[in-house]
Amino acid sequence: MKQQKRIALVAHDNKKHELIRWAVGNREKLAQHILSATGTTGKMLEEELKQPIHKYKSGPLGGDMQIGADIANGNIDILIFFWDPMEAQAHDPDIKALLRVAVTYNIPLACDMATADFIFNSSLLSQDYEVQLPDYSFYVKRKI
Ligand code: PGA
Repeated sequence: MKQQKRIALVAHDNKKHELIRWAVGNREKLAQHILSATGTTGKMLEEELKQPIHKYKSGPLGGDMQIGADIANGNIDILIFFWDPMEAQAHDPDIKALLRVAVTYNIPLACDMATADFIFNSSLLSQDYEVQLPDYSFYVKRKI
């Protein structure tokens, strides 16, 4: 991934204000990168940050899956995903799929504010970085 990162942001409803607060505190750093988000999260972030944000569909309407597809296609470098541990979500299978695909492709993934702080205070945020992809050849070449 390049110096300028492609960062996707998602927050469940009970976590949206926390994400907005965090994003406002990191406004200058976020402004140096290319941002995308699920629909409602993106709308709120755009209003607060005054920075253009590519908006996917709302999470429950397929936005999580769109982000997952872009991770699989190598188009997202970092995922900031404040999911709500206290409330079941209608689109729980999509959430699980998004988390799984982020780990499958070994991208930095923050599920809470502390991890997001660590990522944003890493010198790697503003450097080129080569992601080591796990070796999936055993799977691709498996005999059935
Ligand atoms: P939203 O989607 O930003 O459109 O609310 C987030 C989610 O619930 O996955």
